[in-house]
This record gives sequence, C-alpha cells and structure tokens, in this order.
Amino acid sequence: MEITLGSEVRFLRGVGEQRMKKYQKLGITTVEDLLRHLPRDYTDLRRAVSIGAAALGERQVVRAILGKKESEHQLRRGLTVQKLLALDGSDTITLTFFNGKYTVAALREGEEYLFYGRVDGSLTRKEMVSPVVYPGDTGGLFPVYPLTAGLTSRGIAKDAATALASLAEIPDPLPDGIRRENSLCTLDYALRTIHSPSSPEEVQIARERLVFDELLALSISFMEMKRGRLGERTQPMEPVEMAPFYAALPFSLTGAQRRAIGEAVTDLCSGTPMNRLVQGDVGSGKTMVAAACCWFAWKNGRQSALMAPTEILAEQHYRGLSPLLEGLGMRVGLLTGSSTAKEKRERKAALKEGELDLIIGTHALITGDTAFRDLGLVVTDEQHRFGVAQRMTLSGKNQGTHVLVMSATPIPRTLGLILYGDLELSVIDELPPGRQKIATYYIGGDKRQRAFGYIKKHLDMGYQGYIVCPLVEEDETGEGPPGLKAAVTYLEELERGPFAGYRLGLLHGKLKGKEKEAVMGAFAGGKIQLLVSTTVIEVGVDVPNAVIILIENAERFGLSQLHQLRGRVGRGKVQSCCILLSDARGEGARERLKYLASTGDGFQIAEYDLRTRGPGDFFGMRQHGLPQLQVADLAADGQVLYRAQHTAGRLLEEDPGLETVPELSARVKQMTGMVSGGM
Ligand code: ADP
Ligand code: MG
Repeated sequence: MEITLGSEVRFLRGVGEQRMKKYQKLGITTVEDLLRHLPRDYTDLRRAVSIGAAALGERQVVRAILGKKESEHQLRRGLTVQKLLALDGSDTITLTFFNGKYTVAALREGEEYLFYGRVDGSLTRKEMVSPVVYPGDTGGLFPVYPLTAGLTSRGIAKDAATALASLAEIPDPLPDGIRRENSLCTLDYALRTIHSPSSPEEVQIARERLVFDELLALSISFMEMKRGRLGERTQPMEPVEMAPFYAALPFSLTGAQRRAIGEAVTDLCSGTPMNRLVQGDVGSGKTMVAAACCWFAWKNGRQSALMAPTEILAEQHYRGLSPLLEGLGMRVGLLTGSSTAKEKRERKAALKEGELDLIIGTHALITGDTAFRDLGLVVTDEQHRFGVAQRMTLSGKNQGTHVLVMSATPIPRTLGLILYGDLELSVIDELPPGRQKIATYYIGGDKRQRAFGYIKKHLDMGYQGYIVCPLVEEDETGEGPPGLKAAVTYLEELERGPFAGYRLGLLHGKLKGKEKEAVMGAFAGGKIQLLVSTTVIEVGVDVPNAVIILIENAERFGLSQLHQLRGRVGRGKVQSCCILLSDARGEGARERLKYLASTGDGFQIAEYDLRTRGPGDFFGMRQHGLPQLQVADLAADGQVLYRAQHTAGRLLEEDPGLETVPELSARVKQMTGMVSGGM
C-alpha cells in the first residue's frame, strides 16, 4: 500500500494498532501528524567522548564497547536493576538500568554503542544511570521528542524515518516565488531534515521554514479579521468643539493626550468603525483619552461603554469619571459582577431605553444580554487582560460600533505586530508634567525592618503606601514554595508588630465585590494608610497620595507585572519609591530585578521580559488570546515574523481569496478558529 501524508500511522511498517493508540495520545493519527510532531531538542552524537575523557556530573555522550551482561536483580516487587560494564581503551564505566529488561536484551556484548546520560560516580569508578543507547554508527544530531508512556525518542525517530523513506517528495504548498524571495528551503527538505539533521545549521534552516509557515498563517488570519472590519461602514459622527470638555478638567492635558484624542475623534467621524489602540506607559493618563471620546460620542447622541478587567478598576473609573462627566450633563452608570440583581436589571433597562449615556463595568457587560439603545463606542481598558477573541466578539455583536482599546503594558514589537495587527495605534509617549522617576530599590529580606521603617516615615508624613504579596492565604497543602508572603497572615503580623497603631487594609481577589469596593474606597479616601494586597491592584489602580510600594517575593513576578505594580505609585508630584524585596539566589532572578531597578521605561522592560522569559510566560499567552504556536517562538523569531507579515500583506493583495494557495487557506481558517473560538 502506498504511504501518503494522509495515511494513518498504523499502516507504517513496524507501527500497527498498539503503537497507533500510543500515538493518538500525542494527537498523532496520520503520517503528516507524525512528521509535524517536532523534536523539542537534539542530542549531539557528534560529540561523543571516551570514558576516560568523560567529565563527572555532566550529561554527555560516551562511545564504548559493551562488556559482559550481568544478570538482573530484583530489588523489590516491580523493580529490577541490571548493571552492565562498558569499556574502551581508556577506562570502564558501569551502566545501570532499572526495569530495563527489553533495552538490555536488545544490546549485544562486544558491540560499540553511544551511551547518553549523566556521568556519576568517581574518577576511578564512573557510572551512568538509565542511559539512552544508540548504535555506535549513529551520527549527527539525534532528535528528542515530546513523549507519552510507551514511546521513546528512538522509536519515534525510527517511525519518522520509515515514513520519510516511503514517501515520495512532499509537495510544497508555498508558491516557489514566495519561498525563494524569503530564502526558505522546501517543505520536503524541512520535514526530512528536522527529524534527522547532521548539524545545528541544518536544523536552523529546516526550522525557519516551518516557523515561517506558521507565522504566515497567523498573520493572514489577523489581517483578514482587520480587513473584515475595514469593509464595515458606520454612520459618521459630527465634529464637535472639544473646548467645553477640556475646560472642565482640573489640569490641562499633555500634548500626547490631545494627539491621541484627535486621532480617535478623526476615526469617529470617518464613517469606518474605529479600531484603535491607545498605548501609554503606566500613569500617562489614558483614562482622560477614554473620557474625551465618551463625551464626544455623547455629544453626538450616542451611548458608550467603558470596560475594565477587574471590578476594582471599574469602580475606580466610575468614582473618578462620574463627577466629571455628570457635571457636564452625562448620565453615567456602573455595572459589575457584584451589582445586585435589581441594580443590574435597572441599569440594563436604562441602557436599552437610552436613559444612560455611559456605562462603566467589567466584562459582565458583554457576556450577558445587555442591549443598548444606540451604542456608538466601546472602550476597553487594560487591553492585555482581554483576549483578542473578546475584543472581536464585542465589536462583532454591535456591528459598526467604534472600538478604542487602552493598554498600559507596552507590548514588545513582535507580539504587538500580531496581537494588535488589526488595530490602528496611538502612543502616549509623554507623562503629565511634574512626574518624577520612581526610585526603585532591590533589597534582601534582612533589610525588611529598615524598609518598614522607611514606609512608616512616609505614612507619618500623611502619605499612603502598598505592600504586595504573591498569595492570599498561606498555602495549606504545603506544596507551594516556602517563604511566600501570604496577604492574610502577613497583615496580621504587621498589625501586631511593626505597624501597630497604623490603619491597615487588606485587598485580595477572594473578597466579594462589595468588600473590595469598600476597601478601595477607604484607601482612596485616605482612611486606610497602608494597603496589603495581592496583585489585584496590578492594573490601573490610581491613588495619587500613595507614594511608596513594597513588593514581597519580587522574583515571583514577571518584570512587566512588576512595572505595573510599581506604577501604582508616582502618580502625583511627590517623589515616589518602590522596594523590591527578594531572597532569590538565582543569578537570573537577581539580574532581572536589578534591571528593573535601573530602568523606568515600560517598552524596554517589556522587550527585556520577553527576551528573558519567553512569550509563553509573558503574562500568559492565554490572556492574549493568541493560539498556541507549535514551532514559532515570538521572542526569538521576530525577523521571520516581519517577513511573514510582509508576505501575508502582498499575498492578500494579489489573491484575496487565497485561491492559489488552498493548503495555506485551510491553515489560516484553522488559526482563525483558534483565535475567535477560544473564548
Ligand atoms: P493610566 O494611563 O495609567 O491609565 P491614568 O489615566 O490613571 O493613567 O492617570 C494617572 C493620573 O494622572 C491620574 O491621577 C490622572 O488624574 C492624572 N492625570 C492624567 N492626565 C493628567 C494631566 N494631563 N496632567 C496632570 N495629571 C494628569
Ligand atoms: Mg489606566
């Protein structure tokens, strides 16, 4: 029977039903699935050393001849051990196998093998436990695959080789022209090479092709979504003089704020639904840009919705904006998950009847059955907390609605290209006047008492502060890392000890909405001097009188997250201070914290964070709503992404229906499904 990419793996010689079941656990059904199950790493068999030259304590490949096999010993029920001796001209090494009956049976005395594993023991008695064994004539780089029980990397490599040997040349879905101008190898070469390369350079070439394919599909998918919106038309709003709004503000806006408002207003009047991202570092004053747009929409007789990722933030926006906007004549309401059923009913009815001009709330706003009389504008604050999918749903539900998204977290360019590839961009690159750099210190736990003293000094002067901990309660399972400061017990300690006599408050995600509201209200009103909190205060919280923040176990947070947390202070004219407390010993963690202490630029921090942590960790891929990528690494593959974006744009221009590239078209559909279906 002829093997094709679509054949089931059980038809491969040496696979069969049993093995097929194991493959299914890895999501592999067809030969193509098997070939696209890529190695996660390679063992470099070119660097085999002699036993004498093998260094203790390191994983390495040792070339040696197998001596006489010793018989198996039963250690206890279900556990056998077998020790073998291997030798070369220089020395001998003991190989220990646990339950290795089949592995050992396959080895032949007197044959040469490559043994891969960590070399233990002593200089005179070297030992390797559970080595991976390759025939002596294996060369090049040997793939290491993601596995499941019953499958080994060697086994998968063998099946992949069988498949590749039985396949005719794999057809290339990418047009030759595109392939050449991007200096890419063929798909046939890429798949053959990635499973049995002879050098890292070859892996590089093969991988680049696969990364390009993936990022091309992703780029096209986002571009199509953007284009879908561009095609929409909507009733243009009428220009309105902004002066009355500006006159009502307690300060004059920065040039950057005015520019962003100008750009948004132009969109609102254009007849095409706005789809704009306002990106500005923490404290740059994005809220006023949102307020201006809502006011503008109201002047045009349209309703607006302002969505925040947390109740705390929604309530803060409500507290901050309603006096201003109601003073100008707007009717503003609040709708969050913790509004009572009656409140919800009333506000929803008011929205439907057009009795509210602006609704501020959490995404409870979009999940429910909320209907508007005439929704003109949706503002999404702290966009990175919302998935792309949520954004799409919201605008999709209200055809022709203008969308403004605001993000404090500067997204590294590579991520931004994709995530916001469908958005126009306004950057607020200027802070309100009088802001000072936040002095940031990185200290160890031995200096905690001194830090407390420093905080007290600030409280005594009438300022407020935060202490942030990574957990709500002490971990009862005892599984968590020791020494994590838990907000609840920590607060008790502080109240009894160093901060006795001060007014402390506690804020964490397990509080009910009303409780949170009460605590934040008390803090904003100055009744609480020191707020002990988890990261619920991470985004957006704005209390200008708070000038000092201490972050416990700082090593537990991502740098961008720490930058966000730090941004809770430095929001007024007073010199503010951030103390990063960490006992982490690892060089990496310390480097990162030192970097943060030395830099205040959110963009640089985000780039650094992406570089050092990788996109998977970058406050969670899932939060971004990006599909799980199989090959591409957005931190490392920026260059390929640029080229893929460029190609995607041209391809769509030349062949909008992607009719000349059906495989690619199918892949794009799959991506789009993952993006918009991922809610
Ligand atoms: P973010 O961009 O982080 O959302 P906010 O909109 O919360 O920032 O603004 C931070 C603080 O700066 C708020 O207290 C706000 O009232 C104040 N603010 C905003 N714009 C200006 C300005 N132009 N001049 C002075 N203060 C401003
Ligand atoms: Mg904000």
